[in-house]
Amino acid sequence: MERIFNFNAGPATMPLVVLEEAQSELLNFRGTGMSVMENSHRTKEYEAINSEAEALVKELLGVPENYRVLFLQGGASTQFAAVPMNLVSADSHADYILTGAWAEKAQKEASKFIKTNIAASTKEENYTRIPRTDEIKVSKGPAYVHLCSNNTIFGTQWQSFPDLGDVSLVGDMSSDIMSRRFDVSKFGLIYAGAQKNLGPAGVTVVIIRKDLLEGIPTNIPSMLRYDIHAKNDSLYNTPPSFSVYMVNLVLRWLKNNGGLVAAEKRNAEKAVLIYNTIDNSQGYYRGHALKDSRSLMNITFRLPSEDLEKKFAVEATQQGMIGLKGHRSVGGLRASIYNAMSLEGALALVDFMKVFQSKNG
Ligand SMILES: *Cc1c(COP(=O)(O)O)cnc(C)c1O
Repeated sequence: MERIFNFNAGPATMPLVVLEEAQSELLNFRGTGMSVMENSHRTKEYEAINSEAEALVKELLGVPENYRVLFLQGGASTQFAAVPMNLVSADSHADYILTGAWAEKAQKEASKFIKTNIAASTKEENYTRIPRTDEIKVSKGPAYVHLCSNNTIFGTQWQSFPDLGDVSLVGDMSSDIMSRRFDVSKFGLIYAGAQKNLGPAGVTVVIIRKDLLEGIPTNIPSMLRYDIHAKNDSLYNTPPSFSVYMVNLVLRWLKNNGGLVAAEKRNAEKAVLIYNTIDNSQGYYRGHALKDSRSLMNITFRLPSEDLEKKFAVEATQQGMIGLKGHRSVGGLRASIYNAMSLEGALALVDFMKVFQSKNG
């Protein structure tokens, strides 16, 4: 059987060469006579994977010296609670910018533990856009301002990150980390579940500025404490070793293919192909996101009727393109075209869209 074009939002498509590499060393990892997943995490082989993955995250993103990179478990959803628990003291609070379902969930979870303030929201416009900087009303002295860099469900993305003065940003970058370059130093903390753009599910990358590791409350669960994980180089307990190994292979693949400069170019090329097809369809396809907020990772669009949308997804599947059904809160279709989606995949989708319109227009 041939491989399909997988447009799922997450877990998502992985680079074929990475899967083949993992396959080739599945039974005997670099002369150990066993798989990585059978090996102890207290061996020099596993420590080498752990430290190479950490070094590659730093190198590819240009992470400054005063940050730590951690590999944790529990997904981005666990970070919704861990961030406020670690970073906000009893007499303080944090600001949240609402740009979609995940940002809302982050704020709701945080509000169980701390006071939160909504600094901006585009909910009333059904999250079709990212707020402008002049719409963001930062409260007095928040511990951080939280934003979601790419809104997986609605298909919008911050084109650049706002300068909000002294306050640190915290970013949920689950669906666009490693898709483009940005200035890490604007952020106190960045987190991302791996299963969209970094590898398989099971590991979450956290990048945290070192000063934030000081003064973390000791009465929160050890597994949620960034200082404990940092002190133990992400080996406080058994890590998701096979997931970290896969992430490391994906990071190597990114590096070998021109790093984030080249990744950014490939991502723009794929997205432009699809957005142009939407824009040139005389209104047959309608994008959900406003043009200045469009995501290069998740492209959300509607057709003239729900019946046609269903038909589109069914026929696309028959032609080897799966995962195009949109999230129920937006409806329509969604093409997730993360780093590992090939140009061929984007071209196949565009061809299909044109043919579908001419047959059903
Ligand atoms: C998928 C996703 C999440 C949830 O991630 P889990 O790892 O399932 O907890 C959170 N935020 C964003 C932006 C996502 O795309």
